[in-house]
Amino acid sequence: MQRYQLHIGGREVEPAGGRWLETQNPFTGETWAEIPRGDARDVDRAVQAAHQALTQGPWSEMTATQRGQLLHRLGDLVARDARKLAETEVRDNGKLLAEMLGQLNYIPQWYYYYGGLADKVQGAVLPLDKKGYFSFTRHEPLGVVAAITPWNSPLLLATWKIAPALAAGCTVVIKPSEFTSASTLEFARLFDEAGFPPGVFNVVTGLGDEVGSPLVDHPLVRKISFTGSDTTGRRINEQAARQLKHTAMELGGKSPNIVFEDADLEQAVFGAISGIFAATGQTCIAGSRLLVQDSVHDQVVGKLLDVARTARMGDPMDADTQVGPVTTQPQYRKVLEYLQVATQEGAKVLLGGRAADRPECGKGWFVEPTIFGDVKNSMRIAQEEVFGPVLSIIRFKDEAEAVQIANDVRFGLAAAVWTRDIGRALRMSEKLQAGTVWVNTYRAVSFMAPFGGYKDSGLGRENGIDAIREFLQVKSVWINSGAVSGNPFVLR
Ligand code: NAD
Repeated sequence: MQRYQLHIGGREVEPAGGRWLETQNPFTGETWAEIPRGDARDVDRAVQAAHQALTQGPWSEMTATQRGQLLHRLGDLVARDARKLAETEVRDNGKLLAEMLGQLNYIPQWYYYYGGLADKVQGAVLPLDKKGYFSFTRHEPLGVVAAITPWNSPLLLATWKIAPALAAGCTVVIKPSEFTSASTLEFARLFDEAGFPPGVFNVVTGLGDEVGSPLVDHPLVRKISFTGSDTTGRRINEQAARQLKHTAMELGGKSPNIVFEDADLEQAVFGAISGIFAATGQTCIAGSRLLVQDSVHDQVVGKLLDVARTARMGDPMDADTQVGPVTTQPQYRKVLEYLQVATQEGAKVLLGGRAADRPECGKGWFVEPTIFGDVKNSMRIAQEEVFGPVLSIIRFKDEAEAVQIANDVRFGLAAAVWTRDIGRALRMSEKLQAGTVWVNTYRAVSFMAPFGGYKDSGLGRENGIDAIREFLQVKSVWINSGAVSGNPFVLR
């Protein structure tokens, strides 16, 4: 069994309390590693190291171009170790090797993109309305950033924060999910190899209350960049507001995947499958509500059942597996509870609806791919985030009703529309309240495309050029060129 250490100030260190947490493999149910159970003392050490790196020493003296070069080197090292890191993530979160390897192979692009962007942040000379001044703006790093991440895609979601934060010149303390910390601890070693000064990147693992909360509260932390559930996000925001800290929140979703009668129905069905059964539905952008136009409802449902029935479950390390286990035991129980709630509310089980007991699932936490028909949008199964392989099918008559149902949830992370009508695609993309709208595709993301939520799905945006601004603050500099004087008691 492997025992990991915290990563603070460029060194691997033991947690102050000398305690560890076991981490389980969701496919076998067995403990495969121990991760440090940090506490407020470790948080303080890490934040002090990050603050020191920010304010003194080589990182604070570097040019943005030099920071960019380090980010490039880090990207190269992730590319080199992609398979090893992906395998660690599969052992920890049970998602398919194909999925995690795809993510790890893609992650370097974030470091190359933001590495390139680091020295392209420009202030402006201001065309002032007042004579006798020269005035300009500077964009400076916000300070120490606390990154808090969930278990579903540990390094991808961490990277969405780390790459722009470091490009902006900030330093980072990250607290990964207690269920999937191993890959972040392995990744931390690459910072030293890439040549980052100690303290620029630190990892403190442990529980939300014992590590996350003191990290949010630490007076030297200026920004909290969080990805996780909206319940935790709200709590962190309240805590951060007491100290007027900046926050960015990437929260949950209940995304509508909308199939119109004029769509390529084969493609739409694949999009529906990808929306809810890829990653075992454990993705914030899961297309968990399939809205189908009345006229093609039976046809779409028939095709969907044909494909979903053949989904192969089993060992996530096998190339043939399509649906893996649920990542954590609490999450597994939560998904099963939702299956009961849905049937009690009158939703009809069209497929699955129970825990999986197939031999190929072994002792893993597997739920059968589940499809509910006759779902009303007001039901809990249509309103609450399940975060599992559970699809609700809802019928609609026309465009207006599709928009009304799609927007009638408190979330607004993503939405998709399947149609061959360009006018309809444009109208729908305007009317849907979501941070991302896909037309005739699903689950596409890029380092170049802003990502984030409307409504209860979050605050702020990750990815794209503007994401670097989330880690910068603007300073206006005024230089009196000598001509300005006058009454000191009035505004100049
Ligand atoms: P979670 O909210 O339970 O935990 C997220 C992180 O917060 C973990 O590291 C956890 O330890 C930490 N945490 C818990 N309590 C805390 C506290 N009081 N103070 C500080 N930190 C605390 O979420 P999860 O179950 O790990 O992840 C699933 C959720 O994440 C889903 O709701 C999903 O939609 C969301 N998610 C969102 C996105 C997105 O980009 N919008 C991406 C992936 C997942």
